Amino acid sequence: MTLLEPTRHRGPYEGMVLKILRDEGPTSRTRLSAITGLSPTTITKTVAPLIELGLLTERADEYGGLGRPAISLVPVPEALTVAGVQLGVGKYRVGLTDARSQVRSRIVSTFDPSLPAEEVMNLIAADVRSLLTADSGPACIGIGVGAPGPVDLARRTNIRSVNLGWSDVPISDLLEDRLGIPVVVDHNVRSLALGEARYGGHDAESLAYLYVRTGVGLGVAVKGEPFYGGHGTGGESYIGHTRVVEDGRPCSCGARGCLDTVVSEPSIAARLAELGDPLPPDANVMSEMRARARRDPAVAELEDTVIDQLVRSMAIIVNLFTPELLLVGGSLSSAPAEVIARLREGTRERIFPLLRDSLRVEPADGSDDALIRGAAAIALEVLHYS
Ligand SMILES: [Zn+2]
Repeated sequence: MTLLEPTRHRGPYEGMVLKILRDEGPTSRTRLSAITGLSPTTITKTVAPLIELGLLTERADEYGGLGRPAISLVPVPEALTVAGVQLGVGKYRVGLTDARSQVRSRIVSTFDPSLPAEEVMNLIAADVRSLLTADSGPACIGIGVGAPGPVDLARRTNIRSVNLGWSDVPISDLLEDRLGIPVVVDHNVRSLALGEARYGGHDAESLAYLYVRTGVGLGVAVKGEPFYGGHGTGGESYIGHTRVVEDGRPCSCGARGCLDTVVSEPSIAARLAELGDPLPPDANVMSEMRARARRDPAVAELEDTVIDQLVRSMAIIVNLFTPELLLVGGSLSSAPAEVIARLREGTRERIFPLLRDSLRVEPADGSDDALIRGAAAIALEVLHYS
């Protein structure tokens, strides 16, 4: 059984040092001192409790010359547990990870989206508790939650989730009351961008993550740091609510003709149904549309429109943030290869020529573990690496 970490006074520079070791690999105290500008004494005081807790270990480096071998500090990611909760519309994924967001256990559950938020939190808390009970890993330091909608700046409250009908849900307070460990909340797609940037193993300094499911979301990590905008909320992007069709179909936000109304799963499903054949439950919208487009010119036209609108938005994202990697997730994670190829080529065609050769457009890892990795990354960012 994995216990909760007792409240521990963290030294002021712990997060900074742990972050350097995560990003740079094994590093000597002398070099840590040079990188941080902190005195060797402060570095020694900072790392001592981390070594005692097993979060760092020492390693004598091979040394060709005379004298003592240099001692490097090596992070031990397995020495802590973090929980990640990726909350979707009618479905959530809960998992336990280590300090590199490697998921070792998970529960995937569905829920009735009309349930009040408090009841959904009861279900999530019960699943976290049962994972911790079955786990034999080190103490759990906290929980990261990826929420479907804007969050407040303190990363504690889900301000609005149009698709769940939630407003001002204090997710952190509700889960902390039930579980007794710190909870950090962030926008789900930003958490995915962070998880991929930090732990996805992509060789990309900056990446953007476009997520298309019930709506369209965007998360960006610039030089490894998640992008937060303004306006007093958590600064998530509202790219799905950009008007792309004048006098278009009504959108959940109250406007008309938003990108959501053209490319989201429910919008495509509704159009396919209008064209004569509703989607079977749990069908992959993009694959189904591709299959029907081969035999029905009207569906082929619909597919062209969806891809065209996606590509226009993707090109703007790339020109704006200049990421080396643009991941497309949600229903696009498992889209047919021809669709991904059209998105890739179409985006390349529309962006500034200098970016064309170096831009990668790839389907995101849509597995449960990849989604949990993003949620856990939020908790790691706030509770361990800062
Ligand atoms: Zn809208």
